[in-house]
Amino acid sequence: MKTEVSKLRPVAEKKEINFNYIDADSVSISINETVTLDDLNNIVSCFVEAFNLQNTNITALDTDTIIPTNLERNTSFLENDIFNTYQSETDMMRYIKKLERKDLALNHSMISLGSCTMKLNAASEMLPLSNPQWGNIHPFAPLDQAQGYQEMLQNLEKQLNVVTGFAGTSLQPNSGAQGEFAGLMVIRAYHAANGNSNRNICLIPSSAHGTNPASAVMAGMKVVVTKTDDKGNIDVEDLRAKATLHKDNLAALMVTYPSTHGVFEKAIKEITQIIHDNGGQVYMDGANMNAQVGLTNPAAIGADVCHLNLHKTFAIPHGGGGPGVGPICVAPQLVPFLPTNPIIETGGASAITSISAAPWGSALACLISYGYITMLGSEGLTNATKIAILNANYMKERLQGHFATLYTGEMGRAAHEMILDCREFKQNGIEVVDIAKRLMDYGFHAPTVSFPVAGTMMVEPTESESIAELDRFCDAMIAIRKEIDNTTKDDANNILKNAPHTQEMLTADEWDLPYSRKEAAFPLAYTRENKFWPAVRRVDDAYGDRNLICSCNPIEDYVEAEV
Ligand SMILES: *Cc1c(COP(=O)(O)O)cnc(C)c1O
Repeated sequence: MKTEVSKLRPVAEKKEINFNYIDADSVSISINETVTLDDLNNIVSCFVEAFNLQNTNITALDTDTIIPTNLERNTSFLENDIFNTYQSETDMMRYIKKLERKDLALNHSMISLGSCTMKLNAASEMLPLSNPQWGNIHPFAPLDQAQGYQEMLQNLEKQLNVVTGFAGTSLQPNSGAQGEFAGLMVIRAYHAANGNSNRNICLIPSSAHGTNPASAVMAGMKVVVTKTDDKGNIDVEDLRAKATLHKDNLAALMVTYPSTHGVFEKAIKEITQIIHDNGGQVYMDGANMNAQVGLTNPAAIGADVCHLNLHKTFAIPHGGGGPGVGPICVAPQLVPFLPTNPIIETGGASAITSISAAPWGSALACLISYGYITMLGSEGLTNATKIAILNANYMKERLQGHFATLYTGEMGRAAHEMILDCREFKQNGIEVVDIAKRLMDYGFHAPTVSFPVAGTMMVEPTESESIAELDRFCDAMIAIRKEIDNTTKDDANNILKNAPHTQEMLTADEWDLPYSRKEAAFPLAYTRENKFWPAVRRVDDAYGDRNLICSCNPIEDYVEAEV
C-alpha cells in the first residue's frame, strides 16, 4: 500500500510517534510486549487521520499465538537453579553482592593494568547515564528530537579535535580495535581517491598490540613487521629500508606513542617523516593517550589519524566488556572519508560505509568522556597527564633495585607506565604468573602480564592513585621480591607457587605448608585491616580459558554426561 510518508509523518509526530520511514511510500512499524492497547489505537489513528480512513477501534489484544505448532518449542529451558533461585529483590541484591565480593576491583585497590588506563570513573561523570532522557532515545530518532545529544556529541568531537590537534572526528567506532579498522579504511579510501588503490602495505613494529595487525588484515592490507632495537625502540634503519623497499605500495605505518614499551620514542618525528616521504599515511594507536593529553598530540608528531580509547584515557569504565568508544580523529586530508551511516548521514563528503550500526556508536557512554573533559578543562587534563607520568616514575624509582625496568627513555625515565622484567626469577623457579597470583594475597589485582614482552609485567598507575596507594603496591612488590629470593628452583611447595591462598584453605584444620598461615594471608600490616579474600585458587591459566565448564552445575553432572 502506498502510504505517502509526507502525509503520515506530521500527524504521527504530533502524536509523539516515530515510524521507520523507509522511503517516500513505505513505513515499517515495530512493536513489542510493552505496547498497550492505547498505543495500538494511537498508531491506527495516525493512518486514519493522515488518509481519511474510517476509524477502527481496537478493543482487545488477540493473544492467540500465530507460531505454527510444528515450530513451537516443546523442550524446557532456563532450568538451571540459577534462573529460579533468586525471586525477591532482597535475594537478588545479596546474590549480586556475593558475586561482587569475588571481584578484586577498583573499589578495593588500584588496578595497575599497563596499556589499559584503569582510572577513576567519577560518579559525577556517570550520573547522566541513569537519566532516561539520555538513556531512552533510539539511535535513529529524528535529529530534531535529539538536539541535546547533537550538542553534546558535536562539542565532544570539537574537544577531541583540540586534544589530538586534528581536523575531524568520528565517534562511530565502538572500541579501539574498531577505530583502527575505521582509520585504516579511511586511509585506503584516501589512497584510492588519489588514484593509488595499489597502496596496501602496512608497516607495524614488532612491539605493537595484537589488534594492529588484525585490523590491517581486516582492512585488506598486507602487514610488514619492522624490528625494534635492544632498547625497545623502533629500529629506524630497518623501518627506512622497508618503507623504501615498498615505496610504490606503502599505505600506512601503525605506531603506538608513547610506545607499548612505555617510552616516548625520541625518533618519532623522523619515523613519521620517513613514511610520508614514501607516500604512506601514519596511523597512531592512541591507547597511550593518557601520557599525551595537554602536553603533546598526534598531529605534533606528524601522524595523520589516530583512535582514542575513551574507555581508557577519557574515563569510561571498562574491563567487564562494557561499552567501549574508540573514535578516530583525522588530519584535514582524511576528513572527507570519515564514515557515514545509511539512515542518519554522518561523516565526510566521500565517506566510507558505516563502521558500526549506530550513527554515533555508543553515544550514551560519550556523556562520560564529555563530562570528564568539560569538568577538568584544559588545565585539569594537563595536570592529570603530568601526575600519571609522575606516578609511574615514582613507582619506577621505588622499585629500583627490586625489579628492573626493561626500557626507559634517554633520560632514564618511563612515560605513564613501565615494564618490570621478571624473567631473571626463572632461576628461582618463579614465573611472572606466580607473582600475579601472589599479589592477590596482598590485596592487589595483577598488572598486565606478558604484554608486550613475555615474562614481564607492565604497570600503569594512572593519575587517580594517591601516594599512599602507590606505596602500598610498591611495598607489596618489594615484599614479594624478598619471597622470591627465599625460593629455590627445586622446591615448588612455596608461598608463590601456592598463591593465591583462599579463606577455605587458610581456615582448614590441616595446614602442612612450610610457612605460616599469617605469612600466607596477612603478609603486610595493611592487609589486616583491609583484607581481600581470593575465592578460588588457580584455574590453570590458558588451559582453563580454553576448556570452559559451568561451575554452577555440580561437577557430577559432567561425570555422568561423559560416561
Ligand atoms: C587497548 C589497546 C588497543 C585496543 O583497544 P580496544 O578498545 O581494547 O579494542 C589497541 N592498542 C593498544 C596499545 C591498546 O592498549
